[in-house]
Amino acid sequence: MIVGVPREIYPGERRVALVPSTVPPLAKAGLQVVVEAGAGTEAGYPDQEYVSKGAKVAPDRAEVFRAADIVVQVLAHGANDRTGKADLPLLRRDQVLIGFLRPLGSIESVRELAATGVTAFAVELMPRTTRAQSMDALSSMATISGYKAVLLAADRLPRLFPMLTTAAGTITPARALIIGVGVAGLQAIATARRLGAVTSAYDLRPAVKEQVQSLGGRFVELEIEAKDAQDARGYARAQDETFYRKQRELLGKVVAESDVVITAAVVPGKKSPILVPKEMVLRMTPGSVIVDLASERGGNCELTRSGEIVVEHGVTIVGLVNLASSVPYHASQMYSRNLSAFLLHLTKEGKLQLNLDDEIIRETLLTRAGEVANPRVREFFNQEVPK
Ligand code: NAD
Repeated sequence: MIVGVPREIYPGERRVALVPSTVPPLAKAGLQVVVEAGAGTEAGYPDQEYVSKGAKVAPDRAEVFRAADIVVQVLAHGANDRTGKADLPLLRRDQVLIGFLRPLGSIESVRELAATGVTAFAVELMPRTTRAQSMDALSSMATISGYKAVLLAADRLPRLFPMLTTAAGTITPARALIIGVGVAGLQAIATARRLGAVTSAYDLRPAVKEQVQSLGGRFVELEIEAKDAQDARGYARAQDETFYRKQRELLGKVVAESDVVITAAVVPGKKSPILVPKEMVLRMTPGSVIVDLASERGGNCELTRSGEIVVEHGVTIVGLVNLASSVPYHASQMYSRNLSAFLLHLTKEGKLQLNLDDEIIRETLLTRAGEVANPRVREFFNQEVPK
């Protein structure tokens, strides 16, 4: 079987779906890799490196799609809502597509993908289980975003992060607050701590308290309790407006006392809750920085502008999106490992094994034979979107 790796076409995207080091193990399993010329260049993987590891380089995109039995992408149609549509005519019924497809984003995109007949797997739907851990691309990318968020904050903060005792006096450490402690939030806590900030964190799921503390962070306890804070998968449940209002009231003081606030509070498939309204920003010390990792989904801060860095009332608000792409070498390496683990799971002796009794395959399968095949996605849209 041939695995095709087209160049990423989302504007500014620098990652690549497979890196050269994953070519030999795939070849051993009967999967030959064909890469579009220049696909890995931006991430630091030149064509020659792919060739030296046994991959073929195809001169143009259409050729990669033509040759491939399985197409692997980082941001495919759906997740690439800017230019992804251009790939639809290149997909075939007898083909498999694997990538970020934003399955809970827009039903139109999912239907358009289904209409090509392609058998598509959305990496976002990977179960969060121990068995699927090596294939969990969402966690890999969230790890990178959490790390990068802290660096962006440190770069814009007019203060140092660590405490320093110098001949010129003592510098007090920066105070960082992380709101939303999923994978990105945890990495943000670890990174802020490594840089020496006094770090606190809050999440509505009480289960994360121990994780925060194990990273040396202080867990902020608010006197409110979320109803059924998490679902069976471990994701946060959306709360009602009364809860969010109370939450904002209680968080206000902690936010005002922080130099850096990193927000990463999301609810799958929903617009992100506003946890830092304008009034709260007004109470922050000028020079403070907010990095809003939820900006792609509406943002946790009322003043965030998706894709932009703005200064409001002296506070810098970073709403940049797709942060993983700004660390393309390691983001591609991690994604590539996730994908190759999935490819090896999906094939046996170079042949596709579409075993729907397997939870990993069943839950990630999004479209097949012209249909939206995923029950969770169908259910989600039947409830959320009138046909
Ligand atoms: P996510 O990106 O969906 O959400 C980020 C965080 O925001 C979550 O911790 C959530 O509780 C929090 N949040 C939502 N609304 C909030 C609010 N109003 N106030 C404060 N916080 C709020 O999270 P994720 O990183 O995708 O992780 C989701 C779950 O999956 C977690 O339980 C995580 O531990 C679990 N997980 C398990 C595995 C595994 O077992 N292999 C791997 C990764 C993640």
